[in-house]
Amino acid sequence: MFVGHYAAAFALKGKEKRASLGMLFIATQFVDILFFPFAVIGIEQLNFVPEFTAVNNFDLAFMPYTHGLLASCLWAAFFYFIYYKYISKNEADRKSVAIVMALGVLSHWFADLIAHTPDLPIIYGEPKLGFGLWRNKDLTFITEAFLLIFSVWYYQRKTKTKKKYGNYAASGFASILILANYLNFYVLPQDSDLINLTISAIASYFIFAGLAWWVDGQRG
Ligand SMILES: [Zn+2]
Repeated sequence: MFVGHYAAAFALKGKEKRASLGMLFIATQFVDILFFPFAVIGIEQLNFVPEFTAVNNFDLAFMPYTHGLLASCLWAAFFYFIYYKYISKNEADRKSVAIVMALGVLSHWFADLIAHTPDLPIIYGEPKLGFGLWRNKDLTFITEAFLLIFSVWYYQRKTKTKKKYGNYAASGFASILILANYLNFYVLPQDSDLINLTISAIASYFIFAGLAWWVDGQRG
């Protein structure tokens, strides 16, 4: 799952308005931000197999340190600790914001559980889980779009326009995310170079987080 992860970010922001949407965008993709460099240096493994699923060519052969359920819980705890200790400045809300950030990190595993073929370990090896939505491209696209639309609607309901573009920023951004997914699924060729894929994935995670930060500034 790619842009569908951001549904959790919008929903958590709607729930805890003091959390930064930009940081939640980083939190919800945190284990993927780790996974690509881990694959590059050989700690984890991604093989490119043409038409491995209908959506992509990813054979995610080995990724217990970023995509195991236990590892996800530990990364969520790590994010909580860093956020609580070093990032949050406000004594009154640091705990609730740190919890929301940790939930953002953990949400990634559950969203991947829906999309992936059985490649998500609980601890290390077998059993590996994955419901395999990626076997159906149109259904994956529709599900991610629906999750985003619903979560942005919730976010808009829970926050208010603060600045000039407040009314349109979030829905415009959601449209950009859905368009990015469309291009990814139906238009652009699939990448089978790990370094290229890593650079474009990490770049898009941070660009989207930057846009989320800007959108969030238009609302409050
Ligand atoms: Zn993932």
